[in-house]
Amino acid sequence: MTGPVLASLRGVNKSYGEVQVLHDIDLDIHQGEVVVVLGPSGSGKSTLCRCINRLEKINSGTITLDGKPLPAEGRDLARLRADVGMVFQSFNLFAHRSVLENVTLGPIRVRGIPKREAEATARRLLDRVGVADQADKLPAELSGGQQQRVAIARALAMNPKIVLFDEPTSALDPEMVSEVLDVMTSLAAEGTTMVVVTHEMGFARRAAHRVVFMSEGRIAEQGTPEEFFDRTGTARARDFLSKVL
Ligand code: ADP
Ligand code: MG
Repeated sequence: MTGPVLASLRGVNKSYGEVQVLHDIDLDIHQGEVVVVLGPSGSGKSTLCRCINRLEKINSGTITLDGKPLPAEGRDLARLRADVGMVFQSFNLFAHRSVLENVTLGPIRVRGIPKREAEATARRLLDRVGVADQADKLPAELSGGQQQRVAIARALAMNPKIVLFDEPTSALDPEMVSEVLDVMTSLAAEGTTMVVVTHEMGFARRAAHRVVFMSEGRIAEQGTPEEFFDRTGTARARDFLSKVL
């Protein structure tokens, strides 16, 4: 079901000033794999995502994508950001651009795709996430769930190798959570390589190939959803689950 290693982290350490927030992270993410990252607030989940798309610089260790180290700057970095899609808790759509433009701007500017082609792709993706009829509106005219689905379409429009989701449903009203999780579940089933930080345990059980549990900046446990949820090994993970389940 999953293929060769796509992204690889080895001995990754990350500090903010004196405070070390990632400790010796080793993680391989395979093509087509869905890795769900769980863990308490402050355990380093967002920092891990931000290091993988080079929004943050690591202090030591290596991160490679397709066997190549992450570029530090310039055109190569822009291409890396295109290859590593990111969906944030707070949508981060361009407020003064239409839904359609939100999805076409990256492909036109970064990938050099002609406008007509970018628009055709954008309409297809908006249809896939169920908001095709909202294309000409501004983000603020959409519900939170619709905005997050636009953000997913925007990430996919770059044809990324991997998509990182950082708590994509945490800012949504409860009734909108499932419409976003449904889109993510179908992406997972279609073989999209995904790293998903979430507190949605149903999604983790259903869609994850592997669950990674972080605690205090370390990977404290990992395994299949069955292994993690049914035979949780560490006291920290058990304590975490007792609070979220
Ligand atoms: P999580 O996503 O699991 O809640 P984060 O990766 O956001 O955890 O944060 C991990 C730790 O790093 C926390 O202690 C947080 O306060 C700290 N941290 C995160 N971002 C910054 C930053 N830009 N500057 C300083 N400390 C930060
Ligand atoms: Mg976070």
